[in-house]
Amino acid sequence: MTSYKELGLVNTKELFKKAVSGGYALPAYNFNNMEQMQAIIQACVETKSPVILQVSSGARKYANQNILKNMARGAVEYAHELGYDIPIVLHLDHGSSFELCKDCIETGFSSVMIDGSHLSYDENVALTKKVCDFAHSQKDYVTVEGELGVLAGVEDDVSAEHSHYTQPAEVIDFVGKTKVDSLAISIGTSHGRAKFKPEQCTRDANGILIPPPLRFDILEEVEKKIPGFPIVLHGSSSVPIEYVHMIEKYGGKLTDSVGIPEEQLRKAAKSAVCKINIDSDGRLAMTALIRKILIEKPEEFDPRNILGPARDELKKLYSHKNKNVLGSAGQA
Ligand SMILES: [Zn+2]
Repeated sequence: MTSYKELGLVNTKELFKKAVSGGYALPAYNFNNMEQMQAIIQACVETKSPVILQVSSGARKYANQNILKNMARGAVEYAHELGYDIPIVLHLDHGSSFELCKDCIETGFSSVMIDGSHLSYDENVALTKKVCDFAHSQKDYVTVEGELGVLAGVEDDVSAEHSHYTQPAEVIDFVGKTKVDSLAISIGTSHGRAKFKPEQCTRDANGILIPPPLRFDILEEVEKKIPGFPIVLHGSSSVPIEYVHMIEKYGGKLTDSVGIPEEQLRKAAKSAVCKINIDSDGRLAMTALIRKILIEKPEEFDPRNILGPARDELKKLYSHKNKNVLGSAGQA
């Protein structure tokens, strides 16, 4: 049994309070390996941004939970070594069961998500409450994210064909009964790199897909029901067209990729949205650079010379997000 405080981590409680009142959102970046973790920490130290390191159940399977936990400990020490201590949260993304959440809490996670969004409303309430009761009764309070509404798209073990927008009428009851610390809602974001079907979009003069706008009306309704309560957006990559083009130029195939425009996320970050999840953009940045190097330097076979530049690009992407999209730069 390890408490997150022993690892030098923090929960989301104070960070979300400051983010809501400060009109910015915390970055929640997924990581599975060392290069991703280094890029996240370098970017967040340089921009003086607090950060949520997210681990999905897919990441746990890929990298091993003990390795990830110790990488989070390493992340805290790495930030210190880089010269600036930033608040770091270790968060379970899309926890699918009470047992998984409990396991993560006992191995040093400072925050967990319990995703009961696929269940009936009453089952979602019961499961979320059970996780909150356990997490909140720990010696060091662990924060819990719940979800109402369903996001479309595919991400690791999570997939849904159709989205169901969050019903604002349910949020007061849900938050009151479960005592969650934050709530993920569905207002039109989506998992993956193809967030909408082409028939849901329009096209500009260059044939590039323009997605339907986020449902800010639903967000506003939710904020009216639970003023100041921390709101989370999943599936919020922008799917930069430069990366898609670079990947395709060097032999990849990512037909009909489309994300959430950054100006809409910037607008959301100024509201009670205080955590924005970005995973696909990082995957695209790494893949683009790896493809470029493998094609342009066919003699290269040192993984450091392939993953190193990918890591640098990832850092650049995260710095940009902190400064220009989330507004979290300078808040640590
Ligand atoms: Zn998600």
